[in-house]
Parts: sequence; C-alpha cells; structure tokens
Amino acid sequence: MDARDLEALKDAIRCIPDYPKPGVQFRDITTLLGNAPMFRLAIDSLAGPWSDTRLTHVAGIEARGFILGGAVAQRVGAGFVPIRKKGKLPHETVRVAYSLEYGIDEMEMHRDALQPGERVLLIDDLIATGGTAEAAVKLLRTLGAEIVAACFVIDLPELGGARRLEALGVPVHSLVAFQGH
Ligand code: AMP
Repeated sequence: MDARDLEALKDAIRCIPDYPKPGVQFRDITTLLGNAPMFRLAIDSLAGPWSDTRLTHVAGIEARGFILGGAVAQRVGAGFVPIRKKGKLPHETVRVAYSLEYGIDEMEMHRDALQPGERVLLIDDLIATGGTAEAAVKLLRTLGAEIVAACFVIDLPELGGARRLEALGVPVHSLVAFQGH
C-alpha cells in the first residue's frame, strides 16, 4: 500500500474519544466499511500478501472479524470459520477463557470446524493488548490448526498485542497503526 492509500485508510476510520469509557479512543471501522473504495482497499490489503500461500480457512473473531474475514476468505479462496462469544454456536464446541480489563470472558469454536494441519489466517479489526487474539490462537491450536498469520486493520502498538502474538510464534500483519489506547 502506498503512503496516499495508507493515509486514506486511516482517514476513513472514525475516532470516538472517551468511548466506551474515559481515556479510550474508540477506533470505529463502520465508516471504513460504509465507504466502498476504502472497504475494497482494506480487503485487498489484508488478502494481498497471501495470494501465493496455501490457506484452507480464514477464522474471524466476533463481530467485526466476521465482516472482514468473510470478505478476505472469498478473496483468497478459503473457507470461513467463526470464533464466537460463548453460547452462540449450536453444535459441539471447544472453549477458552480470557481476561478482559474487568473480569473474564469465554470464546468458542465448533469442535469440527477445522482438521489438524489445516492452514488458517486469523482476522480481527484491531489488536490492542492482544488478549482476544491470543485466546483465538489457543482455540485454533486446540484443534490442531496451523496459524499462518494474524491480520488486523488497526494496531495500537503501545499496548503490545503484536509482540504478544509474535512471542507465540504467530506472524502479525496490520494495515495501519495509531498511537495511544
Ligand atoms: P485486545 O484483546 O486488548 O487486543 O482488544 C482487541 C479487541 O477489542 C478487538 O476485538 C477490538 O475490536 C476491541 N478493541 C480494543 N480496543 C479498541 C479500540 N480502542 N477501538 C476499537 N476497538 C477496540
């Protein structure tokens, strides 16, 4: 992506100060999704590096990871697998607990969603502390999947999430970075 595209993509992401609580700059991608050329640029840029890589699936994290992940899966010719908040999937699941700022939550995948050795790209809109993506990595590995990389539209580098995933042996690709929380 050239510098002009990068700036255009950043400009298409709305920042909502102090949402959902004081001190947080919420990076709202609905403005990017609603802008056809920018949505296309984001999907092209997320999918582009993998055009010559064998991928069986894209796994998207609920909920914004579904929108991006479904489009990327189509582009790279892979299946799509949802990683959901607990209690939403109808068949037998595997589950992992992870820490949020206050308390813990759990996420799930269908136990039969992936076979050992299948090659997966993990997608979400944003990586902050990396806690959510790390939980997703654990779930995918529980099923024996090989995680080719984790891809995000936005990285908040000050929060260290990319380093946390790379320490687990997962390459991280992000399109844009913003300073702060
Ligand atoms: P984390 O587990 O800390 O990496 O947080 C990542 C998850 O929380 C992603 O699913 C994001 O959609 C959401 N998130 C965290 N911080 C923000 C933020 N500043 N703006 C928008 N979404 C965020």
